[in-house]
Amino acid sequence: LFLAFEGGDGAGKSTQVRLLADVVAAGGREVVVTRQPGGTVLGQQLRQLVLYGEAMAPRAEALIFAADKAQHVEEVIRPALARGAVVITDRYTDSAVAYQGAGRELGSDEVHDLQMWAVCGLVPDLTVIIDLPPEEGRRRRGDVHDRLESEADAYHAAVREHFLAIAAAAPERYLVIDGTQPPQALHAQIVGRLAAAGVV
Ligand code: C5P
Repeated sequence: LFLAFEGGDGAGKSTQVRLLADVVAAGGREVVVTRQPGGTVLGQQLRQLVLYGEAMAPRAEALIFAADKAQHVEEVIRPALARGAVVITDRYTDSAVAYQGAGRELGSDEVHDLQMWAVCGLVPDLTVIIDLPPEEGRRRRGDVHDRLESEADAYHAAVREHFLAIAAAAPERYLVIDGTQPPQALHAQIVGRLAAAGVV
């Protein structure tokens, strides 16, 4: 079982990933929690480069995020799925489609194709999108931490709209939840959806 969490910066993805991992583990299944960018040694190096390095051309940025994913899927995600583990990833291909495709205006179809090539077509069983207004995300983040978080609100607004559009196009594979709610309320909705699918 492959689950992904997506949403803007400050939406609370990491907290929800942790809470869900505890529930799955309590059910006796192996859980692999991972994140992008940065789920492998190469990924950590790429994360450093893309978040804290010099400004780069949008296409270069898109290729770095794609390289991170290629390594991540081959080294971590596919082997874990093959041995029957539940994999929960903090960000996956939809982040690239939203940030580089819509935010950087590279075109979501092109970035989607690039991402699918990088991950050899591996699609999550369910993607949870934690939706949050960009202003609220900025308030929660406080001081700017990395190059990408410091982008203007219009950039983050385009990213948000794109996440919602992706989910609306395939509701059976997405759960969109309102990130302004308390963490336990979000967690309950996520567990509810997975329980209804017989997963937890
Ligand atoms: O969620 P996390 O803190 O790991 O994301 C790191 C940064 O990378 C965030 O600022 C996020 O906006 C950015 N990002 C991006 N494009 C992606 C994935 C993440 O701009 N494809």
